[in-house]
Amino acid sequence: MSAPIMEAVGLRKHFVTRRPLFGAPTVVRAVDGIDLRIAQGETFAIVGESGCGKSTLARLLIRLLDPTEGSVLYGGRDIAALPREEMRRLRSDLQFVFQDPFSSLNPRMTVGALVEEPMRAHEIGDPAQRRAQVGRLLERVGLRPDFANRYPHEFSGGQRQRIGIARALATGPKLLIGDEPVSALDVSVQAQVINLLEDLKEEFGLTLIVIAHDLAVVRHMSDRVGVMYLGELVEVAEAEALFEGPQHPYSRALLGAIPAPDPSRRGQAPAALTGDLPSPSAPPPGCRFHTRCPFATDRCAAERPVLRDAGRGRQVACHHFESIGAGPGLPPPPARAPHVERRFALYRARSARAATTGATTRETTQQEV
Ligand code: SF4
Repeated sequence: MSAPIMEAVGLRKHFVTRRPLFGAPTVVRAVDGIDLRIAQGETFAIVGESGCGKSTLARLLIRLLDPTEGSVLYGGRDIAALPREEMRRLRSDLQFVFQDPFSSLNPRMTVGALVEEPMRAHEIGDPAQRRAQVGRLLERVGLRPDFANRYPHEFSGGQRQRIGIARALATGPKLLIGDEPVSALDVSVQAQVINLLEDLKEEFGLTLIVIAHDLAVVRHMSDRVGVMYLGELVEVAEAEALFEGPQHPYSRALLGAIPAPDPSRRGQAPAALTGDLPSPSAPPPGCRFHTRCPFATDRCAAERPVLRDAGRGRQVACHHFESIGAGPGLPPPPARAPHVERRFALYRARSARAATTGATTRETTQQEV
């Protein structure tokens, strides 16, 4: 692993919720003891069920939330302990792409003002230089520079997410976090935004952290993957190694729940998870997965497993992963036939043109579909 750009050490975030009147407060352990290193230039994906704490972890990493305990090291400094003014200056390095392009853009601001705003906040350039940079950024994300004079409601979901990405790039960040950056978009435009993020990563030398629950997206774009369960990391591995043979029983179940288009597996039911995710306000003792794990033993209910080295850069938090062995994994994604590949290239070119035509939301959606 190359030098880390960011490191989380013993990171915890507990939310205290108060019941009305005289009820006792409840502590929700959203993130509970995460140790993680993100290498310079990699794409690191964080996956897990809804409610596992992955979005809270993403917000802690760039201090949109203050941790209850632990530290986040960036450039050798603990950003969790930085004074507000220093943290504000550092924000130009660390940017966020939100999940919902419909609510993350202020509808009263023009696209130009939205993209310019972070540059103004960080006192980058003069007004003329900023306007020129807005035009360049819009072009770079596949939109026409004159779109700067329009308002967000005039654009489709895919175009709005492009505006959100242009805004995130405005300060020249080094690390970009995408919280489900494509999950609110139509399937027809998800691939465009993923490809755009990958291109920008290469061009701007970015490090990407992607929160996702679509494992096909994760497999396509990430170098390494961290699997979270109930506020903890249970497996960290290179993406292909994880998809070829998940080691932690939870990772096995997560991947096993994906229907595989493999005729040789016809009739074999996927290893579905049973039961609901326990409440993060009352996590089970010992291994938090033991209430749903088919391999659980008495030791699992009593002793909390820690992340241990499993070889080839993989870490697994399970007492018994050596004896359980790797799960079946997923077949490699099928290579597309040349004629299908050509059709995809045509489709991408047509979609890129559609993004710059200036059509209204309805017209553009029709073109995208
Ligand atoms: Fe299952 Fe035990 Fe491993 Fe937890 S420690 S994942 S309960 S086998």
